[in-house]
Amino acid sequence: MKAPFLDLKAMHLELMDELQQASNRTMHSGWYILGKEVEAFEQEWATYLGVKHCIGVASGLDALHLILRAYNIGPGDEVIVPAHTFIATWLAVTHSGAKLVPVEVDERTYNIDITRIEEAITEKTKAIIVVHLYGQPANMDPIIGIARRYRLKVIEDAAQAHGAKYKGRRVGGIGDAAGWSFYPVKNLGAFGDGGAVTTNDDELAERIRMLRNYGSKEKYVHEFLGFNSRLDELQAALLRVKLRYLDAWNKRRAEIARLYTEVLQDMPLVLPYVEEWAEPVWHLYVIRTAERNVLQERLTEAGVGTLIHYPIPCHLQEAYRFLGFEQGSFPTTERLSKEILSLPIGPHLSDDEVWFVVNVLRFGKRLLREQGV
Ligand SMILES: *Cc1c(COP(=O)(O)O)cnc(C)c1O
Repeated sequence: MKAPFLDLKAMHLELMDELQQASNRTMHSGWYILGKEVEAFEQEWATYLGVKHCIGVASGLDALHLILRAYNIGPGDEVIVPAHTFIATWLAVTHSGAKLVPVEVDERTYNIDITRIEEAITEKTKAIIVVHLYGQPANMDPIIGIARRYRLKVIEDAAQAHGAKYKGRRVGGIGDAAGWSFYPVKNLGAFGDGGAVTTNDDELAERIRMLRNYGSKEKYVHEFLGFNSRLDELQAALLRVKLRYLDAWNKRRAEIARLYTEVLQDMPLVLPYVEEWAEPVWHLYVIRTAERNVLQERLTEAGVGTLIHYPIPCHLQEAYRFLGFEQGSFPTTERLSKEILSLPIGPHLSDDEVWFVVNVLRFGKRLLREQGV
């Protein structure tokens, strides 16, 4: 028996007929960039989220970057980001020219520590990017409260939270704007790169539409310096098929998470913490233990796929050496990077496979104790 970290192929086999129809339809349409499929997907994704506008772009990184550009956030400005996140959150700010101001994360939820946001604000601060990490919504109300007081934009990095709810509302329409990624392994994933911006702000939506398409609204008329960052027709057509299964697949992820949490309760592991107002979508099921490396080795040997999200904090990456952060700058983030482990989870993981993972965890742990590790 084996338990893959995520079986993408199984997801697509289930929908193969519909996916093939969608791709045939698009290939026969003779129109491949910014056409009916992208328009329809934008509408369907906005409706699903309960938000006014959706603009398809080329990736999650571009979505966040274009939001900052559209708000004219750049050199001389500061943007608050969580210390613990995927590097794209940080890169969006760096590429905008603004200064990164990382804030430590909460040790239980792994999302931005709301008690430390205010002390990071200066007169140069323009926005806070919150990340709904691992599919767990961030605590939006207090964050929006702070942002309103200091007149800051709240940008949601929703790349891991397709369908997640905060106090009954889907994330992605709660802040001023949200960036989405449809990278293949996300809860809603394309067959390549893709992304979107969602917002209730008419003006922002208009600017993003132009920014993604050479700064142009009318063909060959360019009002400002734009980019080429568009969601493909083909990806949009395939995403429309997969969107119809998102809720069912998220439900299955939640079942798996419930099972893990139930049966791992008595183990010396820190399990995911869920706030009472949160409806997470379990993009990842992340456990914590000081013996992470040994545990991961045992799981790998036994045929259980695991990953670490993420093994090196952004502030200690070579790419960010110029910021001058050192070991100890963000102790919680650094400890997480050494202790976290993502277990297999996905809509096609069977109960048997979940039990297999659990048994390997138990057996591995007992063995570790015997060896006095
Ligand atoms: C995947 C991801 C992104 C970036 O998405 P891409 O489509 O790969 O550019 C940004 N933020 C977070 C938290 C992500 O997980």
